[in-house]
This record gives sequence, structure tokens and C-alpha cells, in this order.
Amino acid sequence: MLTPAAFLDRDGVINEDRGYVSTWRDFAFLPGAVEAISRLQDAGYLPVVVTNQSGIARGYFSEADYRTLTERMCAALADAGVTIGKIYHCPHSPSRRPPCTCRKPRAGMIERAIAELGIDRAASFMVGDKLGDIAAGRAAELGATFRVGPKAIGAKDGATARFPDLATCAAAIVAGDVAVGC
Ligand SMILES: [Mg+2]
Ligand SMILES: [Zn+2]
Repeated sequence: MLTPAAFLDRDGVINEDRGYVSTWRDFAFLPGAVEAISRLQDAGYLPVVVTNQSGIARGYFSEADYRTLTERMCAALADAGVTIGKIYHCPHSPSRRPPCTCRKPRAGMIERAIAELGIDRAASFMVGDKLGDIAAGRAAELGATFRVGPKAIGAKDGATARFPDLATCAAAIVAGDVAVGC
């Protein structure tokens, strides 16, 4: 039995994108985001985070810093009853040659999750605030892609639908206002 997943970008979807967020002090959940992930989880979607973290390759923070922040985030989510299925990150630079296969807009992280976690591709969706998130979800042929954030509305990005934030996106999915899959 394959599992439907909610693939979530991190910065700009779950927490405020303040640019290369690397410490818990700098990490702020966006309004309604934790509750939104909880609602998606309750609706049967396994939350999976896929995040580009080129700050590691750029030397802005270390892999250990990233891990520490991730543990704090997961602990805070657990307090709210949210369990993330798995978190994938790309530590590489966008200028890496040859390019890595994991950095969005490539689908590497999503493909890895699908294989490792037994995910139902067509019943899953990607939520992101950037064009690259939408492109990665489309490349992986997920059932839907949702663009969120202040820049989402009216964007020509190939997304299935656009919302101001994850909270409104999750509400629409749970209510069946937007379709995931065929
Ligand atoms: Mg983002
Ligand atoms: Zn990578």
C-alpha cells in the first residue's frame, strides 16, 4: 500500500524565509503553518520536507548547524502532534559542476523519498514558494503542485493552484476545493 505524501519546502512555506536560516533563534514558524501540517497529516498525507540548503556549500553554516536546527524544528512540531516522515536537504551549490541531482528544480529529493518511503506519486503534492519547487514537483509527476506566499498569486509557474500561505493551501486540500491526482 503506497502512501500519499505532502511534500513541503521549508523556508517560505513552514518558516519565514529570512535568507539562509541556520539557527533556532532565526527560525520562526509562519502563521498557521504547524496547524496546517497537522491537518494534512490528519487527512492521510505523510509530511515530507524537501529543502535546498546551499548555505552549507557556501560555508554560511555547517551540516552540524543544519542538523541542530532540524532537531529543534522536529521537536517543536512533535509538541504539536506533527511527525515529519522524513526531511531531505540538498547541501550543494547551484554552481556545482556537474550539477547535483538533488537541488530543486531537480526532482532528486522527491524521487528518493518516493523510493525510500513507498509514496504514491500521483496521490501526492508539492507545496513551495518558489518556481523551482513547482518545477521539481512537476518533474516528479506528482498529482499536484501548489505555490504559496506573497509572490504566488498570479504567477505563471505551471502550479495547479496558488495560495497566500500553507494554512489556506492545506485548508483547500482538506476541504476538497482543489484536486490532487487525476
Ligand atoms: Mg522556499
Ligand atoms: Zn544537491
